[in-house]
Amino acid sequence: MKKITIAIDGYSSCGKSTMAKDLAHEIGYIYVDTGAMYRSVTLFAMRNGLLNSDGSIKTDELKDRMDDIDISFRLNSATGRPDTYLNGELVEKEIRTMEVSANVSMIAALPFVREALVAQQQAMGKKKGIIMDGRDIGTVVFPDAELKIFVTASAEVRARRRYDELKAKGMPADFEDILKNVKERDYIDSHRETSPLRKADDALELDNSNMTIDQQKAWLMARYMEKAAN
Ligand code: C5P
Repeated sequence: MKKITIAIDGYSSCGKSTMAKDLAHEIGYIYVDTGAMYRSVTLFAMRNGLLNSDGSIKTDELKDRMDDIDISFRLNSATGRPDTYLNGELVEKEIRTMEVSANVSMIAALPFVREALVAQQQAMGKKKGIIMDGRDIGTVVFPDAELKIFVTASAEVRARRRYDELKAKGMPADFEDILKNVKERDYIDSHRETSPLRKADDALELDNSNMTIDQQKAWLMARYMEKAAN
């Protein structure tokens, strides 16, 4: 099997990370959740007073502080999956709150934020053997990836999944709020000027609205085997 690069893009909460993490674990690839990186920058901005009370961003100040933001991933031996660290602090839970979700797409639309994070993502993928999920992986980060997947599901199905995930973690969740947030992020992510969410021309599309996690995993594994063979 040759080592390849796998790019998984799609709308929010469509189960990209679940299938990507599982495949990475099974085939011994590095998994990178780029949404966690944009969420970490957002958490940093919130904690450091870089958001105004109306939700707008103190753009110049955030730009000046970008060098103070160090995002890293460390494998959690209990879950077998990487956890996100912001300046050395484990923030896996903090970056998944509704407050972060409400602000992240505005932060992710800033060109200087994207430039900084894309450079880090490209450096992580230099040696291949990586699965990265996000919004612009197949179009911008790794346009030459051997396997590109574009995942979709209805907004209602996605909001239900996010709701169940938050509930399972014991975090506060309201279905209607989540559905509204999912739709807002879809809109901002696909209409922003820099690297809008879109399917790469050579990406395979997967609508997983009516698929179980096991079915998705099997589908993805089969696509990987096709590309990595020879
Ligand atoms: O994947 P997740 O839903 O955690 O991503 C959070 C947000 O980060 C997205 O709604 C999007 O605004 C932004 N994002 C992005 N580009 C990526 C990954 C995430 O703009 N590659």
